Amino acid sequence: MAIPNNDFLGFTLAHKDVAAPMSFDLPTATACLEEVGVLRFEPKQPPKASLVLSAGIHGNETAPIEMVNGLVKELLSGAIDLQVRLLVILGHPEAMVAQKRFLDVNLNRLFCGAWQKYSGMEVPRAQVLERAVQAFFEGHQQGGKFHYDLHTAIRGSQYERFVVHPFPAERSYSAEQFGFYAAAGIDAVLLSHQPTTTFSYHSYARHGAEAATVELGKVRPFGENDFSGLMKIQTALQCLLQTGEVKQETPEKVKVFEVVDALVKDAEDYELAIDADVNNFTSFAAGFELARSSNSCYLIKATGDAIVFPNTNLPVGQRAGLVVRPIALPDFSS
Ligand SMILES: [Zn+2]
Repeated sequence: MAIPNNDFLGFTLAHKDVAAPMSFDLPTATACLEEVGVLRFEPKQPPKASLVLSAGIHGNETAPIEMVNGLVKELLSGAIDLQVRLLVILGHPEAMVAQKRFLDVNLNRLFCGAWQKYSGMEVPRAQVLERAVQAFFEGHQQGGKFHYDLHTAIRGSQYERFVVHPFPAERSYSAEQFGFYAAAGIDAVLLSHQPTTTFSYHSYARHGAEAATVELGKVRPFGENDFSGLMKIQTALQCLLQTGEVKQETPEKVKVFEVVDALVKDAEDYELAIDADVNNFTSFAAGFELARSSNSCYLIKATGDAIVFPNTNLPVGQRAGLVVRPIALPDFSS
């Protein structure tokens, strides 16, 4: 059995209930379909790095799903001479078919074992993906360990492409990663202020990989994406696959933000003073009243502070957005 037309996405959506392992012998690598939407490549030459590329953890975020499928097509057709170990993951095939972000619960909150506190059809999927990533990184041989979890945002953004960098705790920020983000056409890096249970944080914290949640523009249906904004990241990833080289441009090209405050919906009447379709990273002047409820009022602390991921359509007690502030590049030396 083979994947018709090397179309991994089409095959996954057509066979989302079948999990039979399938192996393929390619000119420079072997490939194994381990689970639905989980395809592992092992190069025949000594590998130069281990890379996890995931897309579609949210089913309706189609641009990166199609981009990853394009890379897999090149690999399966033998057009790419693979030099790194590679685990490709199409995260949530059921939600892709339904053209929804998720079905029961947000899959990207269930990692680091957080699935134990939830119920829903995403729970077993989170376990499958955790196991696949663990087995993959256990097979790591040499060079860097990387996981880029590719998404698109619900809304537009002042910075079209940005990454959310995991909270480092005791680790230091990698100059090479920031240089790679610049080379991949990433416009901004948001530094997380606390541990989370996202897929990329899981690989960063549990497996010591360099990892990021990568936001590549806005949600659109399959077939309606404009890939011109993704050329640089596609080229950077192809280069990593073919040479093991982490492409570099000066890290000063990316704008860096830190989290100043996490906004919490503290009452039913909680409101943000912004338009429903406001872009991520829209900034405000000091003193602007950004949020108000019968319990609280939030005033912008410094001119230039900006909103990211605003959302009030959620239960009381949950996060209604982040207030972020532009800062200099982090110290890479420590
Ligand atoms: Zn997403």
